[in-house]
Amino acid sequence: MGLIVQKYGGTSVGSPERIKNVARRVARWRQEGHQIVVVVSAMSGETNRLIALAKEIQAQPDPRELDVMVSTGEQVTIALVAMALIDLGLKCRSYTGGQVRILTDSAFTKARISNIDDLNLRRDLRDGYVVVVAGFQGVDEAGNITTLGRGGSDTTGVALAATLAADECQIYTDVDGVYTTDPRIVPEARRLKTVTFEEMLEMASLGSKVLQIRSVEFAGKYKVKLRVLSSFEEAGEGTLITFEEDEKMEQATISGIAFNRDEAKITILGVPDRPGIAYQILGPVGDANIDVDMIVQNVGHDGLTDFSFTVHRNDYSRVLEILTPIALHIKAREVQGGNRIAKVSVVGVGMRSHAGIASTAFRTLAEEGINIQMISTSEIKISIVIDEKYMELAVRVLHKVFGLDQPS
Ligand code: ASP
Ligand code: MG
Repeated sequence: MGLIVQKYGGTSVGSPERIKNVARRVARWRQEGHQIVVVVSAMSGETNRLIALAKEIQAQPDPRELDVMVSTGEQVTIALVAMALIDLGLKCRSYTGGQVRILTDSAFTKARISNIDDLNLRRDLRDGYVVVVAGFQGVDEAGNITTLGRGGSDTTGVALAATLAADECQIYTDVDGVYTTDPRIVPEARRLKTVTFEEMLEMASLGSKVLQIRSVEFAGKYKVKLRVLSSFEEAGEGTLITFEEDEKMEQATISGIAFNRDEAKITILGVPDRPGIAYQILGPVGDANIDVDMIVQNVGHDGLTDFSFTVHRNDYSRVLEILTPIALHIKAREVQGGNRIAKVSVVGVGMRSHAGIASTAFRTLAEEGINIQMISTSEIKISIVIDEKYMELAVRVLHKVFGLDQPS
């Protein structure tokens, strides 16, 4: 018997039938004597629909108002799930983020959780209620509704699990776990039984959409036991995110190939090579709350250098706007950009103890005639920026060369 947080994603609550199915699963866990907190996303497609609707009124929707609006998606599902549970004879109460008091900062559309008031939840759980909480949303000090960024319900789930010291946080989704890569691109991709927290963090930040990256950060920080499972299967152990690498040491060196088409590249040519230049370029980008991913600065020649970095594709035009006057100011020659790029990454903790992973990756891409535009590495990953049109090919050949299609 324990306290379990179960988070159900949009497809898992995508129709009345599926909601009833979720309720039946929750009821089974409840019958086994567990205390259950359910966190839900909006019904599938709903958040996109709301955002599109907002854009019909205002091309760049006001962030505060957008949050007021998109948070309604989850408010609908908590009520429906609660009704389904009550209909099964369970005691149940739903809460919006603000009702729980999931306190966040005021960064609308990408707020961060700063505190969760767990008083009501604990009382309800003690009194035998199933508690259903809206994912993705919170409230700031002033009482404004905020949202946590796309995919943010995962973070709500993990944050609640951390606050309540839950025994497990189960993320129910439309796949039965974390895969070596996206099976839609590589049909031979396999489900991983376990993946280390660090690998998961890399995969999430590198484009694997299974978990929102902030949820993984949270899980790591608070040592939340996290499991990804399918809501469409009765049984199945899914993928457990582990903290010990030891049990993996004998396994494959590489755990997965991640990819991401959501990036754009910006290059500033002929930048004066002097102290403070990187700051002059990237400072204003950071001030605009835009995350910079890969950064490459070439060796200078004749007092000039080239400076490239990548950002999310959505931020591309904004960054060009910010940098055009700056480039003039610092007397750079030219700002260039491209948003037809993709990033492919090889991830595995085994890289630490195995040499030659990078050269194997580079050789494999070379054999396919794929040109590498940028490279970045960490202890457990190698990321490569290439032309978007070769992305799927790159993922397939890397998946194969590292033996990820072989049963372990
Ligand atoms: N409904 C939100 C989204 O679609 C949050 C979530 O599903 O996690 O991004
Ligand atoms: Mg999600």
